[in-house]
Amino acid sequence: MAMRAHNFFAGPAVLPLPVIEAARDAAYDFAGLGMSIMEISHRSKEFDAVIQKAQSDALAIMGLSADEYAVLFVGGGASTQFAMVPMNFMRGTADYINTGEWSKKAIKEAKMLGSCNVAATSEDANFNYIPKEFSFTPGADYVHYTSNNTIYGTEFKSIPDVGDVPLVCDMSSDMLSREMDYSRFSLIYAGAQKNLGPSGVTLIVVRKAWVEQAKDDIPTMLRYKTHVSKDSMFNTPPVYPIFVLGKTLEWIIAEGGLGVIQERNEKKAALIYDIFDANPDFYKGAVTNAEDRSLMNVTFRLPSEELEAKFIAEAKEQKMYGLKGHRSVGGCRASIYNACPVESVEALARFMEQFMAANK
Ligand SMILES: *Cc1c(COP(=O)(O)O)cnc(C)c1O
Repeated sequence: MAMRAHNFFAGPAVLPLPVIEAARDAAYDFAGLGMSIMEISHRSKEFDAVIQKAQSDALAIMGLSADEYAVLFVGGGASTQFAMVPMNFMRGTADYINTGEWSKKAIKEAKMLGSCNVAATSEDANFNYIPKEFSFTPGADYVHYTSNNTIYGTEFKSIPDVGDVPLVCDMSSDMLSREMDYSRFSLIYAGAQKNLGPSGVTLIVVRKAWVEQAKDDIPTMLRYKTHVSKDSMFNTPPVYPIFVLGKTLEWIIAEGGLGVIQERNEKKAALIYDIFDANPDFYKGAVTNAEDRSLMNVTFRLPSEELEAKFIAEAKEQKMYGLKGHRSVGGCRASIYNACPVESVEALARFMEQFMAANK
């Protein structure tokens, strides 16, 4: 195989090489059937084994039990969950923590559907920190937050304490990147294309007892109950993305689980953040507090926009792709998800040192 590029795209994003190879093979001949995974029934026993294994692997990785939690694979992206959560669970007031563009989009949908209280926001400082104090509504229907802010490069390092109120989290860009007490959540959702697989499937992990309390007077496809009771098979699920996501889960397990993944992610992030800390006049991290820095999306500025453009162009010549920051922050962003190899981050760190020496 030709040399793999250093992939720092924010999403869709890098996948582990064994996953890509399995996806390539299954796209031609799956399970020795003489047909590809895309050409067989979603109700075949071969695909049934794929989805069941993905469900049990996801629960095993998170340390959750199938008695308490359901794992769903649905279409529509994380963006559909912005509306589905309030449609199913909003009766009185729901609390939302606003930490960036994706939180804002979730809040917009919730406001359309009912009473949404913004319990904290970091919008006052262009989302460059994680709020630490929240004004929660007593007896709220749920609290919603975004664990990792893909665009701004901030990440919650601890789970907000919401007492007995159901906790909902958009984990699209840091799902399964670290050890966590996943049992604190009533509902987790993640568009697969950041840290889990290709676009086209959204992973949902939801407490079954909470789903039983969800509303019934909403369209069938938008009810969590529908997908839980039919085990993600009410209609044709995104078969090929589920297969690839399942392979990524197998890869996480083979690597040693979330402890190993987290340690590697911390090591990778430190390679870049250490450069910011040693050279604050040249590489200026976009996040104010070091403790809020994302392990997944590293955002930074250079002394001028000209240097930023030069940095991105020269990086490309060295097969380092996807380093341009999101338009709402500008500057540069290196997304270093689970599957981004340590070697790629080491190559980026070396390039950053060389670029600084040549352009200071
Ligand atoms: C990318 C992203 C989304 C949007 O995901 P889609 O699957 O494209 O709808 C939502 N939330 C976060 C945190 C994201 O990074």
